[in-house]
Formats: sequence, C-alpha cells, structure tokens
Amino acid sequence: MGIRQELLTRIKSTDFDKIETPKKVSSYFGENTFSLETMQKHISKPTFEAFKAWMSEGKTIILNQANEIADSMKNWAMSKGATYYTHWFQPMTGLTAEKHDSFITITAPGKVIEKFSGNKLIQGEPDASSFPSGGIRATFEARGYTAWDPSSPAFIIESKLGKTLCIPTIFISYNGEALDKKLPLLRSDEALSRAAVGLLKLFGHKDVKKVFSTCGPEQEYFLIDKNYYNLRQDLLLTGRTLVGAASPKGQQLEDQYFGTIKERVVNFMFETAEEAYKLGIPVMTRHNEVAPHQYEFAPIFEESNIAADHNQLLMELMKKVALRHDLVCLLHEKPFAGINGSGKHLNWSLADDKGNNLLNPGETPEDSLQFLAVLAAVLRAVYLHADLLRASVAMAGNEHRLGANEAPPAIISVFLGDQLTTILDMIEKGAKKKVSKRDIVDLGLARLPKFNKDTTDRNRTSPFAFTGNKFEFRAVGSSQNISTPITVVNTIIADSLDYVAEKITSTAKGGDFNTAALKVIAQIIKETKDIRFEGNNYSEEWLKEAEKRGLPNVASTPESLEDLTKEKNIALFEKYKVFSKEELIARYHIWIHMYTLVLEIEANTLNEMVNASIVPAGFEYQQLLSDNLKVLGEIKKDVKIDPLVLKDQKEHLNDVVSKIYYVRRNAKEMMKLLEKAGKFNAEKRAKLYFEELKPLMEHIRRHVDALECVVSDEHWDLPKYREMLFIK
Ligand code: ADP
Ligand code: MG
Repeated sequence: MGIRQELLTRIKSTDFDKIETPKKVSSYFGENTFSLETMQKHISKPTFEAFKAWMSEGKTIILNQANEIADSMKNWAMSKGATYYTHWFQPMTGLTAEKHDSFITITAPGKVIEKFSGNKLIQGEPDASSFPSGGIRATFEARGYTAWDPSSPAFIIESKLGKTLCIPTIFISYNGEALDKKLPLLRSDEALSRAAVGLLKLFGHKDVKKVFSTCGPEQEYFLIDKNYYNLRQDLLLTGRTLVGAASPKGQQLEDQYFGTIKERVVNFMFETAEEAYKLGIPVMTRHNEVAPHQYEFAPIFEESNIAADHNQLLMELMKKVALRHDLVCLLHEKPFAGINGSGKHLNWSLADDKGNNLLNPGETPEDSLQFLAVLAAVLRAVYLHADLLRASVAMAGNEHRLGANEAPPAIISVFLGDQLTTILDMIEKGAKKKVSKRDIVDLGLARLPKFNKDTTDRNRTSPFAFTGNKFEFRAVGSSQNISTPITVVNTIIADSLDYVAEKITSTAKGGDFNTAALKVIAQIIKETKDIRFEGNNYSEEWLKEAEKRGLPNVASTPESLEDLTKEKNIALFEKYKVFSKEELIARYHIWIHMYTLVLEIEANTLNEMVNASIVPAGFEYQQLLSDNLKVLGEIKKDVKIDPLVLKDQKEHLNDVVSKIYYVRRNAKEMMKLLEKAGKFNAEKRAKLYFEELKPLMEHIRRHVDALECVVSDEHWDLPKYREMLFIK
C-alpha cells in the first residue's frame, strides 16, 4: 500500500466530550480581557478618570498612575492564572510578535515575588534586532521599543499548561519611527478624525469631538485534514499547493456555498468562536464559501484599531483550534489552483463619537447633503489614489488571486448600486447656480432613501463597493494584516474630506452653504466618474474599458509596491503624518524583499518535490511499464498479441518518459534562473521572479499535473486535490 493510501485509513474525526448545554455567550464574553469595566473595578477613581482622558483627549497619564494600572493588570492576570506577560506587536512583516517575560523579580537569594511596574507596562525593549526595519535603524542602534497602546485592551492567551498576559503595543525605533503596522494605523485614524470633524462642523455638528473608522473584516479560509497537510511539503512550507492536478469535481456544482456545514467543521467553528468570545472578539456569522472546504467567519464591526488586533488574534486562534481537531487552517490567498482563493473583505465606514455612521444617509436635507459630501470624498479618494489601494494589498499570495476571475481584478473601481447612481446622475445634471431647500427636495435629496442592502443590488465583483451604509474593500488578501489597507483607506479619505471641506468653504464665501455644498459635490461627481463601474469586473470588456479610461491595472506585486515611492504618495503620507518618507521607503524595501523570499522558498520547495518525490514516482511507474513491455516481448512467441496493443503500450511509455523529461528539464532551468537572480539586487530580482520565475513554475506544474494523471495511484505519494478537498 502506498503511503497515501495508508493515510486514508487514519483519517477520522476527533472525538470530543459532548457538552449538554453550551454556556451562554454573554456569561463569558471578554472574560480574558482587561476591559475598561474590569480596569474600573481594580483601580482608583482618579486614575481611571485620567486613563479615560488619555484615551479620549490624548492627555498622558503620570508614572504613578501607570504603576497603579500595571499593578492592577498584573493582579487581575495572576488571579486568572497568568505567570508571564508579553508586549504583543505587529512587525512590518505582517505577523504578530511576542517576547515573553515572567512577572517574577528576585528579592533575596532563592526568593522571588511577582511584580509588574508602570515602566514595564508602558515601554518594553524586545531584543528586536532581527525584525526587518527596511534600513530605518542603523545597526549600532539595533533596538526597537514597544510602547503600550491603551486603546486596545490587554488580554490573556491560554494554552494547556499556562497563561500569558498580552499587552497590545506599538513598535518604534529609538527616534520614534514606526517599525510596525499599528502605529501608522493609529496615526491615520487621527488624521481621519481631524478631517471628518472639520467637515461635520461645516454641516452644523459642532459638538462632535472625534470620528473614527470602523471595520468588519470577513475572514475566508480553508480547512484540510492534518494528515494530508503533513504529506505536502508545499502546503507545509509555502501555504499553497505548488503542484496538483484538478479534481474532476471541483466547485462546478457550487453545492458547497451556504450548504450544511459538516460536523467536524462545525465543531471547529464552535470552539474557535468560544475562544474568540473569551477574548472579546465578536465573531458573528460563519458559513461555507464557494470552494470545497472553504469557509468564512465575520465579526461584528469595531473601531479599526481594535478590529485589526482582533483579526490578527482570530487568525492565530483559527490555526490553533484547527489542530486540536486534526485539521489545518489554510489562510493563504490561493492554496489550490483552479479553485477560488480566499480574501478578506474589509468593510469600512466612519462613525462619530455620538455613534452616528457617516455613511448612513441622514434624516434631514442637511444630513443628506452631508452624506453626499462624505460619499464624494470617498469617490475622489479612490479616483486619485487607486494606486495606493492596490499597493496596500500587494503581496505574493494575493497576486494569484487578483484578476483570477474570483476576486476583484487589479483594477480598482467603485460600485455604488442603481439607486445611488441615479441620485448622483441627477445631482450632476441638476446642479444649478442657486440651490434652495426646495431644489434639494426637488432633486429628491431632502431625505435620501435607506439604500438597498439586498443581494439583488450587490455587485460581488467590485473591489470597492458601497453596500448600504459602508464600503467593502474586497481586494484584501485572507492572510493579510488589515492594518495597512485600513491605514491607506483612512489617509486617502482624510485628504479628500479636507479637500471637500475647503472647497465648500471657499465656494460658499458667505453665500448660501447648501448651494455651495451641492455644487462641490456635483463637481466631484463629474470629475471622478471614471472610477465608477457598475458592471462585471471579471469581464474582458471591463479590462478594455478600464484601459480606455486610463485606470491603472497592475498585476505585478513589485510594480505595484513601487507606487509607494512616488512623490505624490510620499507627500500625501507626510502631509497627514502617517508615514515619513523614510518610513514609507522602508516598507517598500521590506515588502519587496518579502516577495522575493516567498518566491525563492516556493521555487526551492518545488525543486525538492520534483526531485525527491515526483520524478521518483515517475521512474517507478516507467519501470513498471517497461517491465510490462519486456514481458509482452518475451511471450509474443507463444501468445498472439495484436501489434496495436504493443504500439499503444509503447506510446504510453514514451509519453511518461517525455513528461518526466520535461519536468526535470524545466526544474533545472528554474534552478539556473535562481542562481542568476542571486547576483541581482532585491528590486531586480523581484521583477525577474514575476516575469520569468512564476511562468516557469507554472510550466513545471503543468507537466507534473499531467504526470500525476497517468502515474499509478500506488506510486504517487502526494495527496491529491480530490482527497484534500473532498474527504470529510
Ligand atoms: P456579506 O453579506 O458581505 O458576506 P457579512 O455579514 O458576512 O456580509 O459581513 C459584513 C461585515 O460588515 C460584518 O463584519 C459587519 O460587522 C460589517 N459592517 C457592518 N456595518 C459596518 C460599518 N458601519 N462599518 C464597518 N463594518 C461594518
Ligand atoms: Mg460574508
């Protein structure tokens, strides 16, 4: 029996003790977080008030107060069994990082006490010299510092043998430059707030102090049996299958989408949700996705910074819990060729401190106008900065997905839906010199309808779609940290909100405000028309049409990342103090470097699989065929064999031999290419990988997949698509 066949007998669902009545979620939601309520119970009133002022107005607390909070946080964590703490942060590579320290301090020889000071809470000093900094930190100043982010609650991570207090932090260099993904996000939220508050003031909302972006990331993923995963070097090392023939049944029947969820998977979902609830992560919906073994979790939306932390945590939880069920959770954007990949729809909106969603059409004519002004700002932002949105989702994994007829193309456009399009058309045509309240009523703007959220009015192919009271940025990759896409969305929209506010102010110049506002809105609608597209984004016609409109369509990750270094983009981020030039360039270098590393790992893995597993399987089968022919040749004297039979078998042998040859030849060529690339700098290497290495890998794959379809099952050790995707 081949190793693969043997596996089949071992696949089973893990046994779990049946729970009679599951706990009510409300009874334990957030129990492992040091939330505001928990903090309030553990610290003095003045310190709590100071902390709240820090959160809302940025008034920093004093060291004594930090000490008090640290002490209460430690006591709370210890009462729950934590013995270690860590500053938890998000380096520029997109992972999360932790450095664990124990609470203990030595007080006398052989004696320890548990202690945690304000200093340690506020600032940590991980020996972070091996995190890429893109050149920001000089080597003599290799240290980075972590600093407490009080806006995101500390939490406790449990493992079987212990618990750790995790403190969300930002990660900065000695000079205060951002070395992570969180600090730029916080800065962009500040920029957005300032701009939005300014615009709201113009519309009469003088009491609003703060506006923040809200975000609900829908997380797609695959689950496959752990036994299969362990036999696939490619999944293990690269997160995706580098070879693998299509299964005769794929997703054609679409019988998986919203189908009943298999029990083993439901168990995984229950447990993941329970773990998430303990951490205060409000996961809400769960369902099957289009591809076999593909699923989705969606949370209730939260403030962006919290949503980003929670999404990072959720991804970690999913991976951890899956293993307990003998499953592996694949977060890669394209684990299987020919089958839908996974994305992370980033639902994004703006909320003020009174709880109003600024993308909700209002109740009064003024509020309707304000909604349209915000909408116009979004249109202008996407129109001017489509390149940045594209760059914010540029990574090796996502490159397989964008434009592959399953995810939005690399062309960024905005979908608004019929109702809203009709309204914008009217405004564009109907904008007059003087607009009275009556005109607003006549234009149908006095009270905008609630926009249709029904699926009939949904365009699932659009990369940036309005869905009733929020936008959905659909090009984000499933494994991505969402902080960078949010940072970009926040910044470009802050810039356009400022523009709209300034334009309205200068147009009104003491005249009628509504007239001025509508005029500015109409102007923006007209100018940004090219960014709007209501049709099928997967179609050939759109490619042509978009080209005619001059919209960028950048398929290559390195090319897209290069846009980060454009003067206009550096100027934008510097203006809003989100990234300095150095910080932005550093990111460019790191992300290019990561792209090359990913592709090198993939190519080397493919080469090893070819040499150590695929070709040997081919040789064994080739041997079988030639032995067979030899026997036929020998018995020919005694048994009458149709010459056509011999011919057929010779052809088959020939076919197998030549397939093996092509696989080997191309693999050798691939290794030569890698060697050549080794002499280039990262930028040139990245370009070469996109243009030559990737097509070559695809080429090898085609031959390997053809070989897979002829070599006997007995000899082929790599689990096949039909097994990984269909065995429950
Ligand atoms: P879909 O039908 O697009 O799959 P889901 O229910 O799976 O919808 O996900 C929609 C997501 O949008 C949820 O995470 C939800 O919390 C989020 N969302 C809803 N309103 C807002 C908002 N105002 N701001 C940000 N996200 C929002
Ligand atoms: Mg969804």
